Amino acid sequence: MHTITLINGDGIGPEISESVQRIIKASGLEINWDLQTAGSDVIEKEGVPLPERVIESIKKNKVALKAPVTTPIGKGFRSVNVQLRKTLDLYANLRPCKNLPGVETRFKDVDIVVVRENTEDLYAGVEEKIDEDTAHSIKIITRKASERICKFAFEYAIKNNRQEVCAVSKANIMKLSDGLFLECFRKVSAEYPQIKSREILVDNLCMQLVQDPTRFDVLVLPNLYGDIVSDLTAGLIGGLGVAQGANIGLDCAVFEPVHGSAPDIKGQNKANPTALLLSAIEMLKYINEYSYAEKIEKALFKTLSQGYKTADIGGNLTTTEFTNKIIENL
Ligand code: ATP
Repeated sequence: MHTITLINGDGIGPEISESVQRIIKASGLEINWDLQTAGSDVIEKEGVPLPERVIESIKKNKVALKAPVTTPIGKGFRSVNVQLRKTLDLYANLRPCKNLPGVETRFKDVDIVVVRENTEDLYAGVEEKIDEDTAHSIKIITRKASERICKFAFEYAIKNNRQEVCAVSKANIMKLSDGLFLECFRKVSAEYPQIKSREILVDNLCMQLVQDPTRFDVLVLPNLYGDIVSDLTAGLIGGLGVAQGANIGLDCAVFEPVHGSAPDIKGQNKANPTALLLSAIEMLKYINEYSYAEKIEKALFKTLSQGYKTADIGGNLTTTEFTNKIIENL
């Protein structure tokens, strides 16, 4: 039996985690979930939002499914998400965005994979207040991180039969930092002549994505552009409720939806579990449980095609009702 770390998060996290656990169990796959709480709810008891036991559990189990965790603003804690990614060196953030059956969107045939660098850039958190009226935030781009994320994107393209990898930057303005990223991309792309390579400026990319997203295949981006662009691509396929993600490193992987903890709908049985479920399906493939992954994916797609949906994507089902429909379709 697989033992997998489950971080059930806060906000809507516990509701969607329960839904996904129920669906996986109903598929017939037994998983020993190593439940690890994190976020604002554990601060009072343990003093920090990301206790060491969570990191140890992921290191031991190698794989985790993570619901969104909120970091309290302005209380001096580093972001749980950023800390987790940095401590475990989960350098690649993978966000596939593909149209889902039954979910109406402006564009058809969207099939974009966003590969976001996960460890540096403006997320390094190197900020200082110069005086009352001025603050600095330092953007860090290194050769090591840029080369390995570009390599990851090309390797992903090969393994998944993709045609093209496109590097996204603002190297015309940030000539040194984004310039270095682009230099690394060019070097790595030369090692993969079988995959087309392309370069685009991030502003032009955004315009083209909303005009015709079918022009793009795999995108590779530094951290901050990756964050923003992957929310945009999530919007193209139906919004945050259906956007899956994964953070992958050399030793372990954490699968998590793109969305946050959505405190505005917490505890109302309204949350869409699809993004976490799709992340879990990818996780099952990662641990070589392909038949269960396919079985669950089929049931999800069938449910959506039948018009059963939560409110965020135009339906009227509660989280529990939607989960029950998927289980019936299993
Ligand atoms: P973060 O900064 O942690 O990314 P955020 O405040 O930017 O969080 P989310 O928490 O992702 O954003 O929520 C943005 C909006 O999308 C909210 O109105 C929320 O209700 C909605 N939303 C996010 N996830 C879901 C979901 N799974 N189901 C339904 N609605 C969702």
